[in-house]
Amino acid sequence: MVVDVELEPIKFDGEVFTKPIFIAGPCSAETEEQVMNTAIPLAKMGIRIFRAGIWKPRTRPNAFEGVGSEGLKWLQTVKKETGMLVSTEVANVKHVYEALKYGVDIIWIGARTSANPFAVQDIADSLRGVNIPVMVKNPVNPDVDLWIGAIERINNAGIKQMAAIHRGFSTYDKTLYRNSPQWQLPIELRRRIPGLPIITDPSHICGNRDFLQDISQKAMDLNFDGLIIETHCNPDKALSDASQQVTPDGLKGILDRLILRDSEVNDELMLTLAGLRDQIDKLDDRLINMLEERMNVSEKIGNYKKDNNITILQTKRWDDMLKNRTILGTRKGLSEEFMVKLFRSIHQESINHQTSVMNKE
Ligand code: PEP
Ligand code: MN
Repeated sequence: MVVDVELEPIKFDGEVFTKPIFIAGPCSAETEEQVMNTAIPLAKMGIRIFRAGIWKPRTRPNAFEGVGSEGLKWLQTVKKETGMLVSTEVANVKHVYEALKYGVDIIWIGARTSANPFAVQDIADSLRGVNIPVMVKNPVNPDVDLWIGAIERINNAGIKQMAAIHRGFSTYDKTLYRNSPQWQLPIELRRRIPGLPIITDPSHICGNRDFLQDISQKAMDLNFDGLIIETHCNPDKALSDASQQVTPDGLKGILDRLILRDSEVNDELMLTLAGLRDQIDKLDDRLINMLEERMNVSEKIGNYKKDNNITILQTKRWDDMLKNRTILGTRKGLSEEFMVKLFRSIHQESINHQTSVMNKE
């Protein structure tokens, strides 16, 4: 079901920003020199929107929590000297007033804030009657409705120039990424609010520089609208998120290597795609039938265990199975992460089937 959100394209002085929108700048503004040494090369390479955190939401206290309002003056200098638009994160009403007072052009709501409807509503109320583009990061937890709720709250306050930022989701399990991308969520967001630009934040997804290129490419392949990439004149010395930031040159390398594909599909491509999608449908159908067969066997096992009064979960068997399936899968080019998730979920479903068999009168 499509969500009713009234949107206008993001524009400045009447100029509409066309995709892809690239936003770059440091995780945090640290000093005027650092801000300018980052902004000047970015402007030279054609970046139009500068980002810098002024107030930093840190997980633990006593870490660098941002320079505060003083940094907003440096952003004014960036605007004046480079002509770039400037953007920063706001997490409360005070931040909104300060950002507006210093002429920040675009604000964004961070992942920890969008998880909190009270905080988002306060920010929304403070934006009534203000004409400023607002970007809403996904909440830290993978809940697309909470993300949409935050977007609706801001939109209901009269903000029409909006974008969503996909920055990945917290997980308890250690994964390759700092924040698991879970692409199905921004894809679902696109389905629910088709007109809303989605900007991917590879920096906070990756947590390191190594996969920025892959994640950026994936975002472009999914036809998302832009990228926000943390860029610092001296990344290793950054006061926050050092390992994920790149130099302006590093960013240029990433953007130069990006392949932008055509999203307008012509008839011939359409036919080829339709043929391939048809194959996928058939394969999925077979998968479902095989899962059904597998559950039937599980139920037989359940009956057998019931008759012989033995427990459902035999840990050793499950450990061996998981190991063996993961090896088989990785040999076929399936990732270990995927195999573990897939078999955990199949196993859980088997247990559910066995439990219902065993508890039947
Ligand atoms: C940031 O953009 O630097 C930031 C704090 O991001 P997030 O809210 O995605 O963690
Ligand atoms: Mn950061």
